[in-house]
Amino acid sequence: MAADTREHQQPNELPKGVVIGKDGKPCRSCTSKRDFSSWAQMTKSSLKSGAGSTGAATGAVVGASTAAAAASTFSQTPTTDDCPADVETLGRSTWTLLHSIAATYPKTPSVSQQSDLKTFMGVFSRLYPCWVCAEDFQRYMEKDHIQVGSRDEFGKWLCEAHNAVNVKLGKNTFDCSKWEERWRTGWKD
Ligand code: FAD
Repeated sequence: MAADTREHQQPNELPKGVVIGKDGKPCRSCTSKRDFSSWAQMTKSSLKSGAGSTGAATGAVVGASTAAAAASTFSQTPTTDDCPADVETLGRSTWTLLHSIAATYPKTPSVSQQSDLKTFMGVFSRLYPCWVCAEDFQRYMEKDHIQVGSRDEFGKWLCEAHNAVNVKLGKNTFDCSKWEERWRTGWKD
């Protein structure tokens, strides 16, 4: 289900893994910090190598100053925590929120609580900042309808949805019989 963001590249111009956003610029929340930094470094290097040339067209100069601003913004701070979220930071934080919602969802939810959760997840799947992830998640929800009948139902559905992303990204899957230990009760001794 999840888009492997590595599939959405511009091979001739961008380093592997850099995803272009709908605005035509590299999409920070769709790209890992490492790949984004490579792009920034590449942009900086190409600017340096072109700096001595003469007779640059106006358009190129405008493009270069935009790229220089981006390079100086992103390439200097790849290890600090107070940067805009990359695809991994955003993903980890989001899974924490979603699994925590599952953990606090009632065992026997009312009709309106079930409706709220469905609405929330539908809106979430359209607003998620990594657009390639969002589109794949929407497709997953169309194919594998959300289960909101109880805490356990939703927790397991979410765990399977997360596993589908794990598989797509080549990661290990999680044992969904343990989702509550991971996200609600804590691990048994
Ligand atoms: P995460 O996958 O973020 O998991 C965090 C923690 O959750 C883990 O440490 C583990 O303890 C626990 N966990 C793992 N699997 C499960 C499970 N199945 N059930 C319960 N708990 C579990 N990234 C992309 O590159 N491309 C995508 O298309 C993409 N789509 C995404 C779609 C959504 C809806 C979300 C929320 C994230 C998406 N991501 C995507 C991000 C990706 O899933 C990871 O969050 C990111 O790669 C960081 O991974 P991580 O290894 O730190 O652990």
